[in-house]
Amino acid sequence: MGTIAMIANALVVPELPDVESNVASVRARFPILAREINGHPLAYLDNAATSQKPLEVIEAVDGFYRSRNANIHRSLHTLGEEATADWEGARAKVARFIGARRNEEVIFTRGTTESINLVASSWGEAFLKEGDVILLTMMEHHSNIVPWQLVAARRGASLVYIQLEADGSIDLEKVEASWNPRTRIVCATHMSNVLGTINDIRRLSEIAHAHGALLLADAAQSAPHMRLDVGALGCDFLAFSGHKLYAPMGIGVLWGREALLEAMPPYMGGGDMIRSVGLETSTYNDLPWKFEAGTPDVGGAVGLSAAIDFIGGLGWDYIGRREASLGRRALSVLGEVRGLSLHGTARDRGAVFSFSFADIHPHDIAQFLDREGLAVRAGHHCAQPLMRLLKVPATTRASLAFWNTEEEVERLGAALEAAKRFYL
Ligand code: PLP
Repeated sequence: MGTIAMIANALVVPELPDVESNVASVRARFPILAREINGHPLAYLDNAATSQKPLEVIEAVDGFYRSRNANIHRSLHTLGEEATADWEGARAKVARFIGARRNEEVIFTRGTTESINLVASSWGEAFLKEGDVILLTMMEHHSNIVPWQLVAARRGASLVYIQLEADGSIDLEKVEASWNPRTRIVCATHMSNVLGTINDIRRLSEIAHAHGALLLADAAQSAPHMRLDVGALGCDFLAFSGHKLYAPMGIGVLWGREALLEAMPPYMGGGDMIRSVGLETSTYNDLPWKFEAGTPDVGGAVGLSAAIDFIGGLGWDYIGRREASLGRRALSVLGEVRGLSLHGTARDRGAVFSFSFADIHPHDIAQFLDREGLAVRAGHHCAQPLMRLLKVPATTRASLAFWNTEEEVERLGAALEAAKRFYL
């Protein structure tokens, strides 16, 4: 454990050029943003699906494969030790990034989906009993529904859903008033990938804890846009994906309270997660390695570490102010498009805008916008229960990040007007 702490201290956060007032210099860090699509400059408005990667991340991954690639934890040669230092250094970086008390509380996974499956399988199998209740919200992504359905079926537990208010928010007083005493865990997204709603995870955690239940926060959408502090959030588990956080695909994080992780059985069996293997039984490694079976995505972790440094260079203040200002602009531009109805108008919301538009199918809208160089998403956004609640089969979704520009938001408004003229 001492080694992890030492590596953490050795990591230096590089300074980025002064980007405070210069969106162009931030955009220049993202080579893909220079692309043209169908003869138009790319306006990438699909950040909720995956984010683009800055040069810092691309070069860090490139550097790993050029000069340090080796398998970790097992080799005594120099490359193996360097790769191990990269992996454990990334863990220490993530721990500081989310305010974890110990590096051992950070488990690397492939992403949010795997992190939630890990908790549902491991904690759920060990601790859920027949008749227990898993409480979710009606705005969850399939990744925070299906793993719970699977374990509920195996353990005889049931799923109960927190209903939504008309603006797409949750009324916490209602949650408290209708509390089912058999509830063992609350599984809630920090920020909805459809409605943009930001849930009060701290308050939800307090309610859960007051009734002896745990809280798992799905931070897939919030991690790229706001400072996360697991202490302040008060949750018991937190999951997020590297690829939405400007890092590569294939790396993600599960944070859990140490005592809970200690009490949970392994999720996957294989190399690295064992202490010793016999013919019939095995004993398991310490945290965090107990949950990290097999050769992991070391290059991805190197990229995630670089992404965290990149965010550190920009600062949450910059990211927050840019995205709040872009979000306000988007609300006003979309508000002027006649025939457009926005799903999700909660006061606390991120810059994710899902809408229905003049009876034009979302797929047609997305295709039309692509012809204009605008990348938006159309579909159910892996939130079919929410789509049914909204009484729509699908929506169109534009999701912003700090590198987007006011001009791109204006282009979206103009292209939607053009789509209306084209289709109607
Ligand atoms: N949870 C939310 C709220 C999401 O938006 C997503 C992805 O869109 C996920 C979970 C799943 O993330 P991943 O596919 O990276 O595992």
